[in-house]
Amino acid sequence: MTEQLTHYIDGARVLGASGNVQDVFNPATGEVHAQVPLANADEVRAAIASAHAAFPAWSALAPAKRAAVMFKYRELLLTHADEIAELVSREHGKTLDDAKGELARGIEVVEFVCGIPQVLKGEFSEAVATNVDTHSVRQPLGVVAGITPFNFPTMVPMWMFPVALAVGNTFVLKPSERDPSATLRIVELLHEAGLPAGVMNLINGGKEAVDEILSNPTVKAVSFVGSTAVGEYIYSEGCKHGKRVQALCGAKNHMVVMPDADMDKAVDALMGAAYGSAGERCMAISVAVAVGDETADELIAKLSPKIQALKVAPYTDPTAEMGPVVTGEAKARIEGYIQSGVDQGAKLVVDGRGLRLQGYENGYFLGGTLFDHVTTDMDIYTDEIFGPVLAVVRTPDYETALAMVNDHEYGNGTAIFTQDGDAARDFTARVQAGMVGVNVPIPVPVAYHSFGGWKRSLFGDHHIHGMEGVRFYTKLKTITSRWPSGIKTGAQFHFKAGK
Ligand code: NAD
Repeated sequence: MTEQLTHYIDGARVLGASGNVQDVFNPATGEVHAQVPLANADEVRAAIASAHAAFPAWSALAPAKRAAVMFKYRELLLTHADEIAELVSREHGKTLDDAKGELARGIEVVEFVCGIPQVLKGEFSEAVATNVDTHSVRQPLGVVAGITPFNFPTMVPMWMFPVALAVGNTFVLKPSERDPSATLRIVELLHEAGLPAGVMNLINGGKEAVDEILSNPTVKAVSFVGSTAVGEYIYSEGCKHGKRVQALCGAKNHMVVMPDADMDKAVDALMGAAYGSAGERCMAISVAVAVGDETADELIAKLSPKIQALKVAPYTDPTAEMGPVVTGEAKARIEGYIQSGVDQGAKLVVDGRGLRLQGYENGYFLGGTLFDHVTTDMDIYTDEIFGPVLAVVRTPDYETALAMVNDHEYGNGTAIFTQDGDAARDFTARVQAGMVGVNVPIPVPVAYHSFGGWKRSLFGDHHIHGMEGVRFYTKLKTITSRWPSGIKTGAQFHFKAGK
C-alpha cells in the first residue's frame, strides 16, 4: 500500500486536509512508494499560528536550556543515523554512505548550537561616558521559515533550524516535496529530544504553501535553498513583504587545474566532486578548467577510464558509487543537455546516456559523462545541469582561467589545484566566489564557519549557519544605561557606633 505522509504541526503528525497529494518515487525503481500532502494556505496558517503561540515561552528560556534539547537531539540523530540514511537514499537515490555523510554534516550544526550560550554572550563596554555603560544583545526574531531543496533532505534543513531554534525563534519548515520522509523523521526526533510542541513545525507543499509563508505577516524571516529562478522569486516576494530573506541558489563550480598540480590527486578529486551524488550537489564541480593543452590531455586520459568504471547502482547495492538521479524529468533534462553539448560542438568523450541496469530498467540511472573542448558560449557551460556531467574547458594560461571563473554568473564554490603557493594565494584573493578550495575540490565550510556563494548563487546579506546564521536569525539591540548616584551614597548600611 502507498504510504501516506503527513505534516508535523503543534507537536504531532497531521494528515493533509487540502485533498492535494503528490507521488514520491523511489528513483532506483521508478515506483511510487508514498504520497505527500500538499498544504493549502489554511494548513500553512495553522503551522504559523502554532509557532507564534510557542514563541513567548521558548524565547524566554535560558539559552542553556535550549542547548540542552540540542545535546539530546544530537544523541538521537546518531542513534537513528542508519534509519534516516535509508529514508534519504530511498527517495533521493544517493548511496547510503553519501546519505550518512550529509546527515553527519547536519549533526555538526547541531553540535555548533550546543554551545549557543557562549555565542549569545553579547558585548559590554564599561564607562563609555561618566556613569554610562553600553551593552549589546542579540534577540530572536519570532516565527521564521525555511524552504529547502531535494538534494540534501536532512543537511540543508539542519543548516537552518538548529541555529534558528537555539537563538530562541520558532520555526516552520517547508521541505522538498520530492523526498520529504527523512526531513519529517528528523523533525519528529527533535520532539523526542524534548522540544516543546509548536516550536518546530513542518508543512509539506508546493507553491501555494510557499506563497503563504512569503506573504504571512507573522513570519519574520525566510531562509531558502534551491534553484536560482525560484530563489530570486522568494527573495523579491519576501522582501516586498518586509521580511529578512537569505536565498542560497544555483551554481556552476569551476576547478582550475594548473600544469604543476598533482594530476592523480586532481583526477581523484574531480571524480568525487563531479560524480558523487550523481552531480546533484550545489558544490559539485561541473567545470574543470585545464591550464594548458598538456594538462587537459592528461586529465582526459586519466579521467575517461575511471568514469567508464564508475559503479552505478541502487543504494541497496553496497558497492554502488553513484545512484540514479532524482526523477524521470531530471534524467530527461540532463540527457537534453548532453545532446546540446554534442550539437554545439563539444567533444563527447564519455557518454552516460543509455545506461540500463538489469532489474532496474525503470530507474532514473545515467552514467558519468565527460566533455572536452567545451567553450563558454555552450549551454553545457553556462547552465547548471545538476547531473553527472563534467565539462573540460581548455585555457592557455592562469589569467584566462581566473577571468573565466569570475565572468560566470554563479559564484558558489571554486577550487584551484596547484603546488604553487603564489598561484594559490593570488587565486584566493582575486576569485569572485563565496567558498574557495586550495587542493580541496568541494570546500564546504565546517558548521562553525558559514556557507554561502556570491553573485547569482546567493540573494541576501547573510551566509548560512555558523555566526552568519546567528546574525540572520537575531536582531541586535544596544542598551545604553546611566545610573546616577542613588542609595549607595545616601543610605547608611552600618550600625551606628556606640550610643
Ligand atoms: P527548487 O528551486 O526546484 O526547489 C526548492 C524549494 O522551492 C522546494 O521546497 C520547492 O518545493 C520550492 N519551489 C519550487 N518551485 C517553486 C515555485 N515556483 N514557487 C515557490 N516555491 C517553489 O530546487 P531543487 O530542484 O529542489 O534543488 C536543486 C537546486 O538547489 C539546484 O539549483 C542547486 O544548486 C540548489 N542548491 C543550492 C544550494 C546552495 O547552498 N547554494 C544548496 C543545495 C541546493
